[in-house]
Amino acid sequence: MINKINALLKEVENLKAANAEELEALRIKYLSKKGEISLLMNDFRNVAADQKREVGQHLNKLKEAAQNRINELKASFENVQTTNDDIDLTRTAYPIELGTRHPLSLVKKEICDIFGRLGFSIAEGPEIEDDWHVFSSLNFAEDHPARDMQDTFFIQHNPDVLLRTHTSSVQTRVMENQKPPIRIICPGRVYRNEAISYRAHCFFHQVEALYVDKNVSFADLKQALLFFAKEMFSADTKIRLRPSYFPFTEPSAEMDISCNICGGKGCPFCKGTGWVEILGCGMVDPNVLENCGIDSKVYSGYALGMGIERITNLKYQVKDLRMFSENDVRFLRQFESAN
Ligand SMILES: [Zn+2]
Repeated sequence: MINKINALLKEVENLKAANAEELEALRIKYLSKKGEISLLMNDFRNVAADQKREVGQHLNKLKEAAQNRINELKASFENVQTTNDDIDLTRTAYPIELGTRHPLSLVKKEICDIFGRLGFSIAEGPEIEDDWHVFSSLNFAEDHPARDMQDTFFIQHNPDVLLRTHTSSVQTRVMENQKPPIRIICPGRVYRNEAISYRAHCFFHQVEALYVDKNVSFADLKQALLFFAKEMFSADTKIRLRPSYFPFTEPSAEMDISCNICGGKGCPFCKGTGWVEILGCGMVDPNVLENCGIDSKVYSGYALGMGIERITNLKYQVKDLRMFSENDVRFLRQFESAN
């Protein structure tokens, strides 16, 4: 029996096939259920017990060799096919899918462009900050309750290292290093320790603007705000300012715009008031200027800041904040035409 196996082994090692049909015939001849190797396997039960071990090894070797040779031949046919002329030149080309800008990037760019037309240039800063740039320099006293307004992520057990809760830290960095006139717009990501829901997230995006020069007044601020609202939403957008409080501005205000969905008549979006709140602003507190080495008797300034998500919601009526960070292409593709 061993002789028979060895003869077959030589045979299968030299198998040749001109095409796939011939190859299939070989496979049936050797490897199918009624093929030669299977028949030998059937005979195996008649082999004397003391020879079983040796015969078994030879049989396995034969089966493996046949399988390898047939796979080899099969692969050679497949290679030939791909290099051959089976390419269909009339077939439609695969379309290249174009990416789109993220809606937040679109709105951020639009805000920066509008302020760019007023002479503001972009300034950026680190997201991992220290207490001085995020709080202390901006007039948040050590035990000031305003620190509770912004639930902060601190790094490990070092309360001096934290994730910035607002982009105002960039204003400090610029004022420390640059002499007025300063006219900057600071876009960026900020972090707050909030439970994630449709209306809150642990990270979001802000844009802040800062203008420091001689004789900057609240009237200048209002003029810039009105220009921004009309450019961003529509020429007939109205604004109103309500007194508010921020540690780093005095006086401070919050700005509402006339609801761009109902045109000011009142709808569910503006809760029937006809107005929607979009940003906070005010005159830079003299303490902040002094903290950054700017003489508050010579210079004054205004600052304003807004959430990019908020503006995007208003412009595109995205009801769930979480959509912005889920990367669902069905959502993102809706902004293709805005690119
Ligand atoms: Zn409305």
